[in-house]
Amino acid sequence: MEIIVSEIPPEGLVIDCSRDETWFQRQATEETLSRFAVEGIGFHCAIERAGRQVSISGNMEIRCRASCARCLEPFSMVIRNGFFYAMSPAMGRLGFEREQELREDELEIGLYDNDRIDMEPIFTEQVFLQIPIRTVCHEGCRGLCPVCGANLNRTDCGHESTAKIDSPFAVLKHYRVSRKRS
Ligand SMILES: [Zn+2]
Ligand SMILES: [Zn+2]
Repeated sequence: MEIIVSEIPPEGLVIDCSRDETWFQRQATEETLSRFAVEGIGFHCAIERAGRQVSISGNMEIRCRASCARCLEPFSMVIRNGFFYAMSPAMGRLGFEREQELREDELEIGLYDNDRIDMEPIFTEQVFLQIPIRTVCHEGCRGLCPVCGANLNRTDCGHESTAKIDSPFAVLKHYRVSRKRS
């Protein structure tokens, strides 16, 4: 998708668009695809122009299925994020007043050529910035039993207490007690 800068009306432009699973798969690494299955991505962008300076203020929603890093179960999640880009013409950059008003971590600065802004690199950058390295199905996920591999969210296999006794602190406690007695 391309925006023609000189054609942005004084009241600005609003873009609503979506990208599908295929779009995501074409760009994702195998490692990401092994953890993530995207169901759909939606973008909502408000584009404004002041002279040749363009601001893009957007919101994104990624609906996906991920596998939990602890219990390995698949689960659904929605990732939402906002972004802001200040775009200047590559030739004769004039500066952008709003840069000073925004916190640095909220602002991306870009350049455009030939009166056109390609939205695709922005969409790609925002999606892949938001894919987490590690996901858990919920904060309290108890994961898998290290002994038998049972999903501890669903069953209590009884191995958990054994694992606690085997900890180094338990061994130390036992050693002190036996030393006193001898
Ligand atoms: Zn889990
Ligand atoms: Zn177990």
